[in-house]
Amino acid sequence: MMSCREVCAQAQDYADGHGSNASRVKIRLHMLFCRNCTSFVDQTRQTGQLARQSLNKNSDTVVDPKLMAEFKKRSE
Ligand SMILES: [Zn+2]
Repeated sequence: MMSCREVCAQAQDYADGHGSNASRVKIRLHMLFCRNCTSFVDQTRQTGQLARQSLNKNSDTVVDPKLMAEFKKRSE
């Protein structure tokens, strides 16, 4: 079983669809048991989507202000 730290370290790759199949399976398995990592990976994925949507002014996606702050921090 992966540790939370390992999952966090690979969350970005996982969210982007990168990483080996073996590590993706391990992350998925870990997330079955760990709510913290599930929400961390979700947030990482959403932040990545925000980055891709940043030029789309017509986006009607409801954005969590906390995520938006995190996104701004990363994009600076
Ligand atoms: Zn975890």
